[in-house]
Amino acid sequence: MTQELQHYINGKRVNGASGRFGDVFNPATGEVTKKAPLASKDEVRAAVENAKAALKGWSSTPPARRAQVLFKFRDLIIQNMDELAELLSNEHGKTLDDAKGSIGRGLEVVEFACGIPHLLKGEFTESAANGVDVHSTRQPVGVCAGITPFNFPAMVPMWMFPMALACGNTFILKPSERDPSCGIRLAELMSEAGLPDGVLNVVNGDKEAVDALLTDPDVKAVSFVGSTPIGRYIYATGCANDKRVQALCGAKNHMIIMPDADMDQAVDAAIGAAYGSAGERCMAISVAVPVGEETANRFVEAMAPRVRDLKVGPYNDPASEMGPVVTREAQQKILGLINSGIEQGANLVVDGRDVNLQGYENGFFVGGCLFDNVTTDMDIYKEEIFGPVLTVVRAREYDEAVTMINEHAYGNGTAIFTRDGDAARDFAKNIQIGMVGVNVPIPVPVAYHSFGGWKDSLFGDHSIHGMEGVRFYTKLKTVTSRWPSGIREGSVFNFARGSDV
Ligand code: NAD
Repeated sequence: MTQELQHYINGKRVNGASGRFGDVFNPATGEVTKKAPLASKDEVRAAVENAKAALKGWSSTPPARRAQVLFKFRDLIIQNMDELAELLSNEHGKTLDDAKGSIGRGLEVVEFACGIPHLLKGEFTESAANGVDVHSTRQPVGVCAGITPFNFPAMVPMWMFPMALACGNTFILKPSERDPSCGIRLAELMSEAGLPDGVLNVVNGDKEAVDALLTDPDVKAVSFVGSTPIGRYIYATGCANDKRVQALCGAKNHMIIMPDADMDQAVDAAIGAAYGSAGERCMAISVAVPVGEETANRFVEAMAPRVRDLKVGPYNDPASEMGPVVTREAQQKILGLINSGIEQGANLVVDGRDVNLQGYENGFFVGGCLFDNVTTDMDIYKEEIFGPVLTVVRAREYDEAVTMINEHAYGNGTAIFTRDGDAARDFAKNIQIGMVGVNVPIPVPVAYHSFGGWKDSLFGDHSIHGMEGVRFYTKLKTVTSRWPSGIREGSVFNFARGSDV
């Protein structure tokens, strides 16, 4: 029996009313286990109205009081970690360890948001001119919306709503229709933590719900995380409807391995960064660029047996290192790209196309794949594969590797593995990428820094969480004040105090 999921509006779960549903699968078995309601424009409007009605009370709640709700929410996530991970993995397919790790990264943003009284302190200039003081303050934007991808159904929403709510906004989350249950459960935990009804709403849906949010005049800011074509559309449509928009998008992350790199460290890093979460990470390493033939030979030789040995299996088997990918469609897209790589002349050193797991014959599995001798004109180099496929592009020298990365359309993350401080420093300074790792393969910034790429990996002016999050979810107001100067002229104040200062 398939379970029918709901929306979360005004502090309660509500049934979908549109009559439209999206299938939610258990990717390990291929079975449809749940149906997610796909909201109509009217259902989205109802959520926006609730968020608008809750705005006055929440935005005038003192920041320290708002932080108390987040402190409680933090404790509730920790208490409910096993349940959240099970919900997440069951719909997404990633291993329970990967699920818990990602929830932990979301939790760090909640912890950062707990410091909101300090983060919202404004600036003050005494005597900008004679008798004139100036102060600036950050005020909430209003009703905000978040549209999130399938690959991190807890972490990515937690990049957004804790920051937005801490800043005094109300929020509507539109999670991915592939794995919507975590979003609903997180909203329920926020209510349990003491969040007033209507402040955080979750509307499940597809393009119809997204378009309703993008065109609703009461939605003032939209955060999006997902693929580049959709992000481009969200940014253009949101901006055309006078909204503040941040759209974090797709990626193709390169890892340079210099001849002097610690090869064991580089290989360990590449295995985790390319194949963890079955490669369904916007910060996954998908291109390895060894510099020099000898480095390339050593790297591929060391990688091949490790990739071949990766244990693929269902999320709840503790032996699984990698789960299935999210849908049959995603699996077919990945297999199609692997076939194109072979046709276009790349060398498939490890072939993971044929995974046969007893009892999971209909699961959406793809085994680890490793391509060598990839060139920059191939589709497997240009496109985001979003699966467990690492491509090796050999570079003759460091400059060639850097030029290759700088010329790629995407600019999310990158890494260099080297023992040479000079090369590392040059790389960090000159590479045209938003997040850079030096001997760190997945340089996802900690929550008090900000996350965001360059080029086709981010549209908008603000990265997410950290101080960029505070800036995105607040409007700056600057107040210049002059008061009738009474001290010297014997004002009431002066008289009352009987002072002759
Ligand atoms: P997606 O773009 O298909 O979907 C993202 C969201 O947009 C979902 O909520 C979906 O319902 C909605 N959407 C889909 N089609 C739409 C349409 N035509 N009109 C309006 N809304 C639409 O992305 P996905 O497949 O869920 O996630 C994977 C992608 O997300 C990858 O490209 C990955 O790199 C990217 N991603 C980026 C980051 C980052 O921080 N840069 C983080 C995680 C994922």
